[in-house]
Amino acid sequence: MSMQAHEIASPLTREPFEARRLREMAISAGADDVGFVSIDDPAIAFERAEILAAFPYARTLVSFVMRMNRENIRSPARSLANVEFHRVGDETDAVSHRLTRMLEDMGIRAAYPSMAFPMEASRWPNKMWVVSHKPVAVAAGLGKMGVHRNVIHPKFGNFILLGTVVVDVALDAYSRPLDYNPCLSCKLCVAVCPTGAIAPDGGFDFAACYTHNYREFMGGFMDWVETIADAKGAAGYREKVEDAETVSMWQSLAYGPNYKAAYCLAVCPAGEDVIGAYRGDRSGFLRSIVDPLKQKEETIYVTPQSDAEDYVKRRFPHKRVKRVANGMRAASIASFARGLSLRFQKKRAAGLSAVYHFAFSGAERKDLTVRIADGRLDVGEGLIGKADLVIHADAQSWLRFLRKERSLLWALVTLEIRLRGDPRLLAAFGKCFP
Ligand code: SF4
Repeated sequence: MSMQAHEIASPLTREPFEARRLREMAISAGADDVGFVSIDDPAIAFERAEILAAFPYARTLVSFVMRMNRENIRSPARSLANVEFHRVGDETDAVSHRLTRMLEDMGIRAAYPSMAFPMEASRWPNKMWVVSHKPVAVAAGLGKMGVHRNVIHPKFGNFILLGTVVVDVALDAYSRPLDYNPCLSCKLCVAVCPTGAIAPDGGFDFAACYTHNYREFMGGFMDWVETIADAKGAAGYREKVEDAETVSMWQSLAYGPNYKAAYCLAVCPAGEDVIGAYRGDRSGFLRSIVDPLKQKEETIYVTPQSDAEDYVKRRFPHKRVKRVANGMRAASIASFARGLSLRFQKKRAAGLSAVYHFAFSGAERKDLTVRIADGRLDVGEGLIGKADLVIHADAQSWLRFLRKERSLLWALVTLEIRLRGDPRLLAAFGKCFP
């Protein structure tokens, strides 16, 4: 029985709401599983301030999962996977909407961020999403992150999408994280990823995944627009973009952006409902689910001279490599610093051991120390230790150089950028971030 708004006390004087009842409401709204996280949970402390900025009344996060149909996600015909991503994505937002409406009708303040897109586009190229659904779901006991960095639900595996509803009531009980990880460490996600983005040691090449799988989203779309702008007529455009690619971009614009791969989700055998087929007949599982994706002839998008370009040519010679830009360009020195770890190419950094000091002046003053050694990258604030190369740069000039709007030579001649140390180390630095 629903309560009337005037019967509800203020959030601070209210009795804690029953978690059991909220769970029933979420399930009746269409969720497949639900968990609850306090706004004060240390597991989400890293974005507590951002959540409160969007939801100033937040006291509890209701995290829920929605099942996806497995065989759609597994099909080499990616239109089958994408229709399921879109269908369940829309339903995830619908469940958030229905639960929020129920709570609102009870006089409880509640709101929800989108499941995925649209997001806060004005924040680009910084963090665009309002709530990070994955860590909330993990804190809510709905799963753990697998080697492929997706949440694996103990029963449904990774064939889920995540939603979050933020409410202004405290609960009488909160969820606990799982005490085990359903990930089997089978590394099938590593083997099937066409770009080599998932490393067996748990490393992740964000740029490789983003450039290919998200080709028709955000940065890839920006690159496509710039390709049109740079083309000298239709023939020039067709030299760079095949007709099928143009049609694919139309499809994404018309029906919602389509993923190019997401093969890591397709092959994951973890989860009570999923694992039987893998345990019962491993070679059959590989033959029917993994091999068709590995053997598929398709175009793989890579940035030139990236680790991904080498990987595709070596591991999947039957797949076509297409060199593109991915739109990952810094709009500020702060985003330059944040983006380094996302763009770092471990294999390109092989053999390089150097410490770089960046001293930015002008519109954005900032000191950074970047250390590259043993294929690892460390970025720190301030000028730490002894540098092999010191780069003094006007912030705007450096950003223009990164965006290829200003030549390095010109910036050096005009002293907008000054180097102290071996300049070859700057070229070596650039190779690590193609
Ligand atoms: S495919 Fe295997 S290693 Fe990768 S996330 Fe799933 S269970 Fe873990």
